[in-house]
Amino acid sequence: MLIAGNWKLFKGPTETSEFCAELRRHVVPNGIDVVVCVPFVSLVAAVTALDGSGVRVFAQNAHWQETGPYTGEVAAGMLAELGVTGTIVGHSERRQLFGETDETAARRAAHALASGLDVIACVGELEAERDEELTEDVLGRQVGAIIEATGASPRLTIAYEPVWAIGTGKTATPEQAQSAHAFIRTLVDAPILYGGSVKPENAAVLLGEPDVDGALVGGASLDVDSFAAICAAARSVSV
Ligand code: PEP
Repeated sequence: MLIAGNWKLFKGPTETSEFCAELRRHVVPNGIDVVVCVPFVSLVAAVTALDGSGVRVFAQNAHWQETGPYTGEVAAGMLAELGVTGTIVGHSERRQLFGETDETAARRAAHALASGLDVIACVGELEAERDEELTEDVLGRQVGAIIEATGASPRLTIAYEPVWAIGTGKTATPEQAQSAHAFIRTLVDAPILYGGSVKPENAAVLLGEPDVDGALVGGASLDVDSFAAICAAARSVSV
């Protein structure tokens, strides 16, 4: 069971050091895997503050080339050099706001895996796509692109994040999450996280579904108490 916090564009280096010092007092991985996905500029602070805690530090994106004329991009090898052990790719905010496509997300995933990083590759349908009963088509296309580029890797994790549930307070029902996860399971042999307004109040019921292997948590990962409560819920359902 993996609980990953996605901090998005929150917490610079000073706040990261303070937060991680607090986090290691409240969250002992103990039986579950815990990851924080922090902004690039805060990675060193997070790696330093969490050293020896068992909580791992991931980036939120990584480019598909190691060097070159790619202004504003960061390479997987550069991240590994910092002690970062993985990265998110293809988050819906990148897809919606920054032109990420199935192809670029897949290239990022393949290069990060080849560079020794773990990858959380995000997939998920828009509300209109769900309404039109296109959820499985969309997931099939998005997961298919990742698999075609990466092959099977023990370091690949898929995050099912219905776009209509991210940062909206709307959560997929446990049945909706389970059904999407079971479908993704037919496509790929990898752990599958659920993401979309996971909170302490709904974590246990979502994580209790048979094909839900963990959670990617946005807003609720920004507060130590709520992130710790979600980790505790994960531990309670994984024993
Ligand atoms: C996310 O950023 O991946 C996410 C799921 O956000 P939230 O938990 O805030 O919906």
